[in-house]
Formats: sequence, structure tokens, C-alpha cells
Amino acid sequence: LRPIEELQQAYEETQDERRSVEPHRAVVHWFKSDLRLEDNRALQLASQVAQEHKIPLICLYILSPEDLTAHLCSPARVDFTLRNLRVLKEVLGERDIPLYMETQDKRQAIPGRIVELCQQWGANHIFANLEYEVDELRREARLIRRCARQGIKFEAVHDTCVVTPGALASQQGNQYAVYTPWYRAWCTFLRQNPENLEVIDAPASNPAGARKQLAADLFASEVPPAPSNKTLSDEEKKRFRTLYPEGEESALERLQKFLDSAGRQYADNRNYMEKQATSVLSPYLAAGVLSARTAVSRAQAANRHQLTGANAGLSTWISEVAWRDFYRHVLVHWPFICMNKCFKPEFTNVEWEYDEETFCAWSEGRTGYPLVDAAMRQLRHCAWMHNRPRMVVSSFLAKDLLIDWRRGERFFMEHLVDGDFASNHGGWGFGSSTGVDPQPYFRIFNPVLQSERFDRDGEYIRRWVPELRDVKGAAIHDPYHRGAEAIAAKQGYPRPIVDHSASRGRALARYKRALQ
Ligand code: FAD
Repeated sequence: LRPIEELQQAYEETQDERRSVEPHRAVVHWFKSDLRLEDNRALQLASQVAQEHKIPLICLYILSPEDLTAHLCSPARVDFTLRNLRVLKEVLGERDIPLYMETQDKRQAIPGRIVELCQQWGANHIFANLEYEVDELRREARLIRRCARQGIKFEAVHDTCVVTPGALASQQGNQYAVYTPWYRAWCTFLRQNPENLEVIDAPASNPAGARKQLAADLFASEVPPAPSNKTLSDEEKKRFRTLYPEGEESALERLQKFLDSAGRQYADNRNYMEKQATSVLSPYLAAGVLSARTAVSRAQAANRHQLTGANAGLSTWISEVAWRDFYRHVLVHWPFICMNKCFKPEFTNVEWEYDEETFCAWSEGRTGYPLVDAAMRQLRHCAWMHNRPRMVVSSFLAKDLLIDWRRGERFFMEHLVDGDFASNHGGWGFGSSTGVDPQPYFRIFNPVLQSERFDRDGEYIRRWVPELRDVKGAAIHDPYHRGAEAIAAKQGYPRPIVDHSASRGRALARYKRALQ
């Protein structure tokens, strides 16, 4: 059984026990990667039960250092989460809703602790939005059963995708493995079912007496500290706070500003790294500070209420947000990709190089390929990288350096503020040609051509690779072969660690051999 089917089975098996559960003294919403009040389905459902039965809503967040480590969460991502929890506590408090937070070292202990807390609070109903990774779906299936045995109704609902995984099938009834026909079906589905784009209200305030009725420690609960292996320096904290201010208000403001300005030219500008033409909403979408439904719904409204057509920029942007849904649909249908596996099994046998030195050069931005180095330094400084160089550096690692793409996938998760398993795995599958997209293995990005095309004046490179600041003209893209050798060498910029055309030939031979 797929984990999503196990979940369904758990619901079916516990139907009778669940039916007889009556709301008691409180209702609980369990926050995970949905750190917002607006447009949050599980939170709204919890609020409705609370209002109907005139009982308080209690929100809960459990931080597990073991879970963060298992999910390779970057310190920047952890810091962003904690900052957002601080805002959530405040805005929930304004509605007399407590946000109770605590740390549980062991991830396995979380379900038991949730049941314990519900019993302590006299809560018979708990709501949460689903996450689609295998461990998470299996945990929720177990929790449904465990709760049912204890007389508690646990509702795990679909929310993170605009279109629920499983809702789209090809004419043969199969899950699409190719984006373009999937996207057509996604648009058709939304046109036929426009309610999927209706933004859900924030929860209503708790009854005035809630503060007295609930134990004071619920309201006094503090945001847990970052685990010791996920901390940032004060300088980094300040930098990330400036780059990615916390809170859904910041997210909505960034979204609106983007839709009113850069979004309209997105189709033309999005690939040019230095134009800053993309929304940089990925940290908010990954942590659930902004819902994908709100993003698409507002973009559609700005696009004369159309998903496609009208403004090319906004239509293209909607289709990019759809990629996020696509990779989640793929994950739900082919959960084996959570097990470190290639989507295309034929590439399981590629013979990789395990050269630590070249991996370090790649990860530190010292490959001698200016675009690759600029991008990796941007990642280290901003915990974020533009999409175009994400494609280039993933192809470079897997093909030019022939290093197992899974090392790059892991490195990204450990450094990105927007680290998201489904999108990251999808992106690495694309870069290494082992993934769901029909990206043939012989398509290998040429990092110099990509740089010439998408960073024409070399502004992006100059920003991130200060050693090359004084290099003029087209030499910036390949200083050692275009007459800027003296400046590059003087500034200590490395020579290319591989010759692209030779390493291209080597990659083609290895991939081909894996197919035999
Ligand atoms: P915009 O261009 O403004 O797009 C808006 C939103 O659409 C993004 O925030 C994102 O949620 C979604 N989106 C756009 N492009 C993609 C895409 N190709 N795949 C999935 N969603 C997309 N995205 C992540 O959110 N987390 C990751 O861990 C991640 N890892 C990646 C790894 C590789 C190797 C590659 C090639 C891509 C990866 N992406 C990832 C996708 C994409 O690069 C980022 O979503 C995008 O760069 C974020 O910038 P933005 O918010 O300005 O995007």
C-alpha cells in the first residue's frame, strides 16, 4: 500500500469509533509546515468545531531536533520557522487562542505526546494539515488509529496543494509523469472546480472567557530554542531577518508587490539572475506562511481572473507555482522517491565519482566556472538561489563532476531556507536526468553558455565572485580562456577544475553504460 492509501485505510478502519466522538472541553490544531492563520484548512475546521460547540481552540507546535536533523533542515530554515512561530503566537493571542510549544527530542515520541496533551486539555478533536512525505503520512495513519482507541478524533486534511494529489489522472486513469499534460489537466480541473481557489477565512477568536478557562501556562508558552546543531550567528540572524522577514503579513505584502510589478514581466525576465524578477516567496511557501492556494488565487485575480492567457508574466508565474503541486503529486503516487531512489530506475547504475575535493570545490564555489561559483556563494550567503543557477549547478555536479546527485540534493536541503523535499528532489532529478521530467541524459548545461545567456553583463557573477570584479566584458564568463587570466590568477580565482567538453563526454559515456 502507498502511505496515502494506508491513511485512507486507517480512516476506514476507525470509522465507528470516530463517529461516536463528541467534542469535549477544547479543540486542538497541530501546526506543522502551515504556519499561518489565513487560508489554513485544518485550522479553519478546528475553529468551526470550537465555535459550534462554544469551546476554546488550542494550537500546538512540537519541535523535534531529531526530526529537523532527519529532514536535513538548514539552520536558516529553522530560524525562519522559529521567527514565524513568534508571530503566530502573537496573532493567535490577539484572538485569545493559545499556541502551546514544546520540544520533543525523539520524533517517535510526538504522536504519544499529542494524545497525552489532548487528554490533559480535555480535547477530543485534533486537526492537522497533511504533509506528503512517507514518514509523515505513516505517522498520521498510526495517529488516527491511536487517537481512535483513546476516544479522540484526529483529522488530517489536504491543504498544501492547490489541487489535491490523486485528483488528476490521465485518460488511461494513471498519474501523469510529465508536467505539460499534467498542467493542462490542473488548469482544467481548477476551471471546473473553482471552489479550490477560494481562500479560507482565518479562525474566529476564542470566546472571551477562554483565557480564564485555559491553564495560564498555555498562553505563557515560549518559542523553543533552536537545537544546538541548527544555530546561527547574530550576524546571520540579522541578515536572514532582513532578507526574509517573518510573518504572513510580510508574505502577503511580498506577494502583492510582486503581482503588481515584477510579476507582469515574469515571463520575459525570470531567467535573468540579476534582474531579481522572481517573487522569492519560496521560503514562505515552504514553511506554509503563505498558502499556494492564496498565491494562485491572487495571481489569477490580478490576471483578469484567468489562469492562462491575459498577462503572460502572471500566467507563467501561476504555471511555476503549479510545479510545486506537480512534484507533490509525484511524491504521493511514487513514494519510493523518498527512499533515496531515482525516479528512473535505469539510472540506478550510473558509476559515480566519489571525489571529496571536487565536491568541496563545488559546495564552496571554487570550481573555476564563474556562474557555478556565484550561485553556490549566493546559496551560502542567502540560503537561497535563483532557479536558473539551481538547474546549472545541479547539472554541473551530476554531469561535469559525475558526483552522485543525492549528495547535492542533501547539500541543498542543509543550506536552503526554502528546502522542500518534493521540489528539491524534483529539481535534482531534472538536473541529473534521473527524475520524472523527460530531461534526456545527453542534455548537459554548458555553464559558460548559460552564463553568457542569462548573466550577459556578468553582474550576477561580479556580485558574488569579488575576485572577478575587475574583469571586463565577456571574459567574465570564462576568465582563464578569454584573456583575463592575469586578473583572475592575481585575485586567486581558481582555474576550471574540469574541462567542460571532456567531462561532458565522460558523463555521456557513463550514463550510456548505465542503460546497457
Ligand atoms: P518564483 O519563480 O517566484 O516561483 C514562485 C513559486 O513557485 C516558488 O516560490 C516555488 O514555490 C514554486 N516554483 C517555482 N519553480 C518551481 C520548480 N521548478 N519546482 C517546484 N516549485 C517551483 N524550490 C523549493 O521551494 N524548495 C527547494 O528545495 C527547491 N530545490 C530545488 C532544487 C533544484 C536543483 C532546482 C532546479 C529547483 C529547486 N526548487 C526548489 C525550485 C525553484 O528553484 C524554487 O522554487 C525557486 O527558485 C524559488 O524562487 P522564487 O520563490 O523566487 O520562485
